[in-house]
Amino acid sequence: MPNKEYFIEFEKFKIKVTQKKVKNIYLRINRKAEITITAPVFHNEKTISHFIRTKQEWLISKVQQITEEISEKETLCNKKNEQFYYLGKKYDIVFCDSEKRMINTVDNTVYFSGVNNDDTITIDKLKNQWYYSQAETIFSDILSVEFKKFQKYNLANPVLKIRKMRRRWGTCYHGKGNIILNLNLIKVPLECIRYVITHELTHLIAPNHGKQFYLLLSENMSEWKPLRAQLKTYNFVLEDV
Ligand SMILES: [Zn+2]
Repeated sequence: MPNKEYFIEFEKFKIKVTQKKVKNIYLRINRKAEITITAPVFHNEKTISHFIRTKQEWLISKVQQITEEISEKETLCNKKNEQFYYLGKKYDIVFCDSEKRMINTVDNTVYFSGVNNDDTITIDKLKNQWYYSQAETIFSDILSVEFKKFQKYNLANPVLKIRKMRRRWGTCYHGKGNIILNLNLIKVPLECIRYVITHELTHLIAPNHGKQFYLLLSENMSEWKPLRAQLKTYNFVLEDV
């Protein structure tokens, strides 16, 4: 016997039923709160409806729970798109009509031109490009200034790379002399960027967070402790993707 597929309306739910070669009847709800039933071929609609009725209470509470989770996720996602941080400052977002697609910042406002405010994919792309171009200039400027303090250790000029990282502001490949900075670091104050860069430069000499590391760090940046504390307050932008 071929599989049979149809929908049953129950309360306010539309339930997809598939009857096929199975021994028992199953009820499932997926993450989108879609309900499906798999039932043996020999069941009739009456048996299936009765089965749904016995699960009614559970079904209603489960659907409600999933719907709430979905709306929470959407709010969170919208909030992320409403936020624009740059060098430790939060900007108001304004969308404007324009032929040219671009981002401009004036005082406390960021202007998105040539993109619709509901086109989240293009907004994200535009934001990333803009952040990246700012980060490239700012990070390498700070690196070259801070590196001067480290020249006394006979280090080769480090290679700077910018990436999105989930859990860290920066990292370094001690052997290769590479310093990798998180793109989201562009969202924190300049002084905190300077701290992260000095921290990573110190790792080029002392790979681990041992005594020597903190000694060197304090020698080249006496005020690192309050800067590290300040940076912690920006952890919420660390995982922006
Ligand atoms: Zn470290």
